Amino acid sequence: MNAPGKAVSSEKQASVTLPWTEMAEGGLVPRGGTAASVKTGAWRTGKMPVIDLSRCIHCLRCWIWCPDSAVILDGEKVTGFDYDHCKGCGICEQVCPPKVHAIQMVPEGVEG
Ligand code: SF4
Ligand code: SF4
Repeated sequence: MNAPGKAVSSEKQASVTLPWTEMAEGGLVPRGGTAASVKTGAWRTGKMPVIDLSRCIHCLRCWIWCPDSAVILDGEKVTGFDYDHCKGCGICEQVCPPKVHAIQMVPEGVEG
């Protein structure tokens, strides 16, 4: 493990394949712009969103509210989720209009 305060290269800190024993203490993010390159979806809560596109009215509320920019658009239409970055917070399900209810949070691995 690194000694407290010891500098670690930004490439090492940004790698998700690095053994925990070699990571910087506190999992520090050393620089901006790493969010797209690091697949933080591995941190997901155990639930993941699934969309029924036949119900979606493409109001984009889920896209606006997602804190991880994990709702995928094609033009102005929602097409699905970026599971490499989705954290399973469920905000998208909560903000989807109740009468539409196009998103369901399901346990990881049963999304089909
Ligand atoms: S569960 Fe959370 S992180 Fe994942 S797509 Fe929905 S709002 Fe975004
Ligand atoms: S909030 Fe619901 S209806 Fe609106 S775009 Fe997202 S999935 Fe579709």
